[in-house]
This record gives sequence, structure tokens and C-alpha cells, in this order.
Amino acid sequence: MNRHIAIYPGSFDPFTNGHMDIVHRGLEIFDTVIIAVASNSEKNSLFSVVERVDMITRLTDHNPRLQVETFDGLLVDYVVERKARVILRGLRAVTDFEFEFQLAQMNHTVCPQVETLFMMTSPKFAYLSSSIVKEVGRLGGDISQFVPPLVREDLQKKFTGP
Ligand code: ADP
Repeated sequence: MNRHIAIYPGSFDPFTNGHMDIVHRGLEIFDTVIIAVASNSEKNSLFSVVERVDMITRLTDHNPRLQVETFDGLLVDYVVERKARVILRGLRAVTDFEFEFQLAQMNHTVCPQVETLFMMTSPKFAYLSSSIVKEVGRLGGDISQFVPPLVREDLQKKFTGP
């Protein structure tokens, strides 16, 4: 078991500044952060899993301590397979809590050696979510404060064509 790796799982459809904030803060604590895109999140997603992995890789490829992968099936199985112990998750409003609590309990019951660690959102990202970004983007609003420039370009292509 590697204590120095954290797995940061999610849909990342698309990756936002809120996600980036958690990743950067995670790298202050762990040697390696693996961003794990859930491939079961393909349904109803705007970006395919391949597009999301590509997008996140382009955003992070300068950092050798960051890896981008996909997983399907049970998250804990993937965490064990990667010989990691820690699942990193972000917490925003109280509304995140109920679901995250259930998920963490379930994962811990299925696999007691795996711990979920929560990082509180930075206040400026407290109301930022991928769905809000997609909604504002679809309606033609300015999303430059919410996502890296590269993601904004990818979103614009999705909504208006290249
Ligand atoms: P999921 O479908 O697994 O919730 P998301 O891509 O929405 O995937 O989120 C992945 C992780 O990032 C979750 O732990 C979520 O709480 C966290 N997260 C998302 N947006 C923010 C934000 N603005 N600040 C902090 N954490 C965030």
C-alpha cells in the first residue's frame, strides 16, 4: 500500500477551477495525485471520457506528480489495484455532505483499509460545479472565471462548433 498516493475520482464533465484547486492542494500533501475519471459517468455527459482525459492531460501534463486515468466498476477496487489508500474528495455546500457521507461509509465498509479524505472547497469556488458551468456556457454566458482557458475553448466548440 502506498501512503503517498491520493486518488481523486470524479466525473469532471468538464474540469473546473474548483477541481484544479483541490488537485493543487492535494499535491501539497501527497507525492502523487491520480485524477481518475469515472467511465460510468459517460451517460448524459457533455464530454466523452476520452475527451475528458485528453482535456485534463493537456491541463496537467507539465506535472510529473499528476496522473490522469479512467476507471470503471467499483472505485475501491480501482484504488486497491493502484495500491493506494486514500480517496480525495472535495466538499462544497452542505448539500454535498449527505451523498459524500454515504459514499465514504459504503467504500469504507466494503474496503476498510481505504480512507476517504475531504478537502473543503476554497470559498471562491463554493458554488462552482460542472453542471453550472455547462448551463452558463450553453446560454452563452462568460465562464472564464470558472474554468481554465483550455476548457472554455473546448466548451465553446461543443456549443457553437469549431
Ligand atoms: P462526481 O460526479 O464524482 O461528484 P465531480 O466531477 O462533480 O464528480 O466532482 C469530483 C469531486 O470534486 C467531488 O468530490 C466534488 O465534491 C469535488 N468538487 C467539484 N467541484 C468542486 C468545487 N468547486 N470545490 C471543491 N470541490 C469540488
